[in-house]
Amino acid sequence: AKQQGRNALQTFTQDINQKLTQRVTLRNDLQEAILNEQFELHYQPLLTITGAVQGFEALVRWNHPIKGAISPALFIPIAEETGQIIALSQWVIERAARDFLTLQPQLSSHCRISVNLSPMQFHRPSFLSSLSTTLEATGLSATSLELELTEGILMNDTDAAIDTLHALRAMGISVAIDDFGTGFSSLSYLRHLPVDKVKIDRSFINNIANNSKDAAIVQGIVALAHHLELTVVAEGVETTQQHQQLVELQCDVFQGFLFARPMPFKALCEWLTEKQG
Ligand code: C2E
Ligand code: CA
Ligand code: CA
Ligand code: CA
Repeated sequence: AKQQGRNALQTFTQDINQKLTQRVTLRNDLQEAILNEQFELHYQPLLTITGAVQGFEALVRWNHPIKGAISPALFIPIAEETGQIIALSQWVIERAARDFLTLQPQLSSHCRISVNLSPMQFHRPSFLSSLSTTLEATGLSATSLELELTEGILMNDTDAAIDTLHALRAMGISVAIDDFGTGFSSLSYLRHLPVDKVKIDRSFINNIANNSKDAAIVQGIVALAHHLELTVVAEGVETTQQHQQLVELQCDVFQGFLFARPMPFKALCEWLTEKQG
């Protein structure tokens, strides 16, 4: 038994070591990736209740030369720890702006390109000025941009965060709270935040058809958000049944595999042509 315990411990330690090594390796590889443009953006459409395109969310992909595709859920946290997120995010917003400008002649003037913000980006003193510089350099209008940020970003140093949000909106940039409902904050804080949209987290949408508690939460979020004149997005919509229920619950905008998966720019162009044709 003693031997067995020792083996188990050994396996456990090896496992941890392996994970640590993997993280360190990824960290080094990230540096290369930023320099060598191993990243790619995929885009997922957001649709209104009538099926009109409201915009696209840019989602970064890392095509690692050896390991293949690596999920952003894995490398974004590492990039945040190391500060590499700043360079990566800059690349993301420029790429997204350029791609969106290519499509813009085909789109309604209300369409926006949504980009995910990391906490480190949002809290940098130079955030607003560097964003303005990027808009100017790419030619993207502020009214074509939407930024998605999570509750966590806003909860720490709320006063400074609110100032930044006001400044963004004064520029014409739209702000969405991502993964809404998963934070630890109470819903009432929402009324203090100058934002335009809430995106209800996928975890509430998942079981909406057979979990009445999740349905009640969605209903509560929609009621509050609408009272505050915010647009409600349901993300992660996978089935027509979910969609129907979310329509009944009066969500305004829908995003999920049911309508379209995130896709490379070229596929997005084809998707749009087919939709409009
Ligand atoms: P997120 O912002 O909540 O993005 C939505 C995630 O849900 C995406 O995962 C998307 O592919 C996935 N998704 C969309 N529709 C469905 C559906 O119907 N069913 C299911 N099961 N999943 C769906 P992805 O692309 O793996 O991104 C994961 C997270 O990585 C994102 O979550 C976001 O937090 C982060 N991320 C992605 N790109 C960026 C970026 O450019 N910058 C930053 N800071 N974070 C990013
Ligand atoms: Ca998002
Ligand atoms: Ca989300
Ligand atoms: Ca998420």
